[in-house]
Amino acid sequence: MSLSASLPDLVAALPTGMVVTDADILAGYRQDRAQDPAAGTPAALVRPTTTAEVQTTLRWCAAHAVPLVTRGAGTSLSGGSTAVDGALVLSTERMRGLSIDSATRTATVQPGLLNAEVKAAAAEHGLWYPPDPSSFEICSIGGNVATNAGGLCCVKYGVTADYVLGLEVVLADGRAVRLGGKQIKDSAGLSLTRLFVGSEGVLGVVTEVTLRLLPPQPSACTVVGIFPSVSAASAAVLAVTEQIRPAMLEFMDAVSLNAVEDLLHMGLPRDAAALLIGQSDASGAAGQAEVALMQQVFESHGATEVFATDDPAEGEAFAAARRAAIPAVEKLGSLLLEDVGVPLPALPALIEGVAAISDTQRVTIAVVAHAGDGNTHPLIVFDPADADQTQRAQLAFGQVMDLAIALDGTITGEHGVGRLKKGWLPDQVGADVMQMTAAIKAALDPDGLLNPGVIL
Ligand SMILES: Cc1cc2nc3c(=O)[nH]c(=O)nc-3n(C[C@H](O)[C@H](O)[C@H](O)COP(=O)(O)OP(=O)(O)OC[C@H]3O[C@@H](n4cnc5c(N)ncnc54)[C@H](O)[C@@H]3O)c2cc1C
Repeated sequence: MSLSASLPDLVAALPTGMVVTDADILAGYRQDRAQDPAAGTPAALVRPTTTAEVQTTLRWCAAHAVPLVTRGAGTSLSGGSTAVDGALVLSTERMRGLSIDSATRTATVQPGLLNAEVKAAAAEHGLWYPPDPSSFEICSIGGNVATNAGGLCCVKYGVTADYVLGLEVVLADGRAVRLGGKQIKDSAGLSLTRLFVGSEGVLGVVTEVTLRLLPPQPSACTVVGIFPSVSAASAAVLAVTEQIRPAMLEFMDAVSLNAVEDLLHMGLPRDAAALLIGQSDASGAAGQAEVALMQQVFESHGATEVFATDDPAEGEAFAAARRAAIPAVEKLGSLLLEDVGVPLPALPALIEGVAAISDTQRVTIAVVAHAGDGNTHPLIVFDPADADQTQRAQLAFGQVMDLAIALDGTITGEHGVGRLKKGWLPDQVGADVMQMTAAIKAALDPDGLLNPGVIL
């Protein structure tokens, strides 16, 4: 039966208006933030509000062999939520339930809530949800779980996986399973909760998440260093992380600094080669010692200016500048967005290697980094109207990932493989791991309907 012949069954099985086929609306669900020009055109969009509606949708997909692309807020930078021709897009944007349990210090949420909304709800109960992707105001918790999102404070507080205690997942055949729960420790059976974190929508649809919350973050002191070279700044990162675990240690190069200054006009140093933003939220003497250490390390590594502030608003202004880097660099042209990470001692080699690739391929590459994690975002800028430059940008895209693999690192620290980086995954993990990945996929999604083209 053709899709158009079977779609009325789905329309009839779901509340009125939940299935959308209007081409203008569907156009908004083709691409994610990676803006892949090869994005397909979906056949229809479903915006469920309950787990039961997700189950109905997946049962219909299974019965009619229709591929399904799960979409949170569409901020993926790796093409993970890009549509496929003829697919059904399942958007979680209307799955917005939330409850906070102060006794267990957990939040149980539907996947469509934004990260910022979960943080705000936790704060109302005097609690804190730490993972803070730069996109925290615009990305969903379901997307964060599916990509194992990181962020700025993750250098000290860990990534999304460190906060997911339980999940409800709808499988490809429409069954809903519960994994984990509100308990902090759980050794019962295989770690299937962990398997679904970072699974990028290829194993099932996450319909509910139970998150661990912490007491509020103590107020932080911020240390900013302005450096005459990227190598001095990256050496300073190593000198800091060898001695302490800061609450944030972020890197911006000259291209990203200037792009952010063009956007925000906040007086960033346009002539700096690199800027480091460090934070300590340790209390009392320990905090003072961490701030003093970062100041001393920045100075001894040649920073031309170093200053520290305990004013939260001033510190937040620098963090906001760093978070604005991707939107700011997007204004320079089309982007190929990297997310490569390496063990910390290899960070200088990665940053210098990216500069060499930029020279060889004659393309601008802005670099921002969650430097304390060794996780960098080289942003390759190109003009899609210039075929030669586009080809050089694509070569650079591959070479940056090859470099990270050669340095024993990863092609993606937090954005996921998506559709855009899967060509490099076998080089990183090897044939046996790819086979294992394919076997898990086949066991849970034998017809290959869930997010086809992602990871595998
Ligand atoms: C300006 C900017 C800054 C960013 N900074 C960071 C950063 O600091 N750290 C970071 O980690 N990321 C960052 N990102 C990337 C992006 O925001 C994250 O990958 C985020 O986790 C994606 O969430 P989303 O809701 O937009 O997911 P989407 O883009 O909609 O989907 C992402 C992936 O998750 C899958 N998915 C979504 N919801 C579900 C679900 N309920 N069940 C199963 N699969 C699902 C999709 O199929 C897709 O594979 C940034 C993006 C932008 C635009």
